[in-house]
Amino acid sequence: MATYRGSVCRLCRREGIKLYLKGDRCFKDSCAIEKRNFVPGQHGRSRRSKIIGYGLQLREKQKVKRIYGLMERQFRNYFEKASRQKGVTGENLLGMLERRLDNTVYRLGFASSRAQGRQLVGHGHIRVNDRKVNIPSFQLKPGDSVSIREKSRKVPCIVTSVEMVGSRGVPAWLELDSSNLSGKVIDLPTRDDVNLPVQEHLIVELYSK
Ligand code: SF4
Repeated sequence: MATYRGSVCRLCRREGIKLYLKGDRCFKDSCAIEKRNFVPGQHGRSRRSKIIGYGLQLREKQKVKRIYGLMERQFRNYFEKASRQKGVTGENLLGMLERRLDNTVYRLGFASSRAQGRQLVGHGHIRVNDRKVNIPSFQLKPGDSVSIREKSRKVPCIVTSVEMVGSRGVPAWLELDSSNLSGKVIDLPTRDDVNLPVQEHLIVELYSK
């Protein structure tokens, strides 16, 4: 599957907000948004104008895609599924993205970013209901348990991330047992659990044209 391989800080600068794509560095003064909060490129400093209408809808879609590390086709598929479900499409969309395994690994604090969560899953460090799952897009449901494989419990990036999770907190739809490096999905994520600065209704408007 295609993956974005450029500078992720450029993506934050393009959106003008922190998307928290780089783990611990996002909380430090070296964050590119703290130092150079203007659009990347030669004329970037003069390009941040007020966006309205289609441009605003497009930016909201790009923001969510970039936060969860998805390419257009994959994101569109999530939207199609969300629009077929009962309830509010935008909230369904965010709920499905939150329940991806790579995001859940990040939310539980086993990884410092979603990209690292995806790597841990892909490399086989993660178990779901005591079985190895190496598919980052795997959808979790209430009752599922997520744990670190026995052999991987001393992987330095996992140890460091778990030490830092206290400062970030774990959302209410998850339960963390940090001593056993495991967690459980106790409920479906609600909109309030998704603490992202996005206006998902604009994405629905964009795709409904
Ligand atoms: Fe974005 Fe993190 Fe880079 Fe800051 S350090 S610009 S929040 S990815």
